[in-house]
Amino acid sequence: MVKVTSLCTSCLQIMTNPICPSCFVKHVSYWLRDKKLSGNEARDILIGLAKVIKDAEESPSDTSCIVCGERKVNLCTHCFTSKAGRVLKNSLKNEKTLKEFAEDFNTIIWRI
Ligand SMILES: [Zn+2]
Ligand SMILES: [Zn+2]
Repeated sequence: MVKVTSLCTSCLQIMTNPICPSCFVKHVSYWLRDKKLSGNEARDILIGLAKVIKDAEESPSDTSCIVCGERKVNLCTHCFTSKAGRVLKNSLKNEKTLKEFAEDFNTIIWRI
């Protein structure tokens, strides 16, 4: 099998762990479940993340997601994390949760 090296359409780095927008957002929502958000916060975040998915899917790509194997990936986890982080920043009141997001998503969560 030939491994095609694919680049993130945003930062142009090689994507070592290609994960599609939908799988990424699923991870984020599992993660958020433990954070005891208010109804409004949770709703705003989900709306914001849905927009991240939509934007990401507009750029064409040949790389398949390593999690679901179905959808295409065009953003690296780093770019996803920073986009999702922006969404969280707009909606979350709790600075501590934001900090935890940055720490968790930049390190452990992608070692699947
Ligand atoms: Zn990137
Ligand atoms: Zn996927």
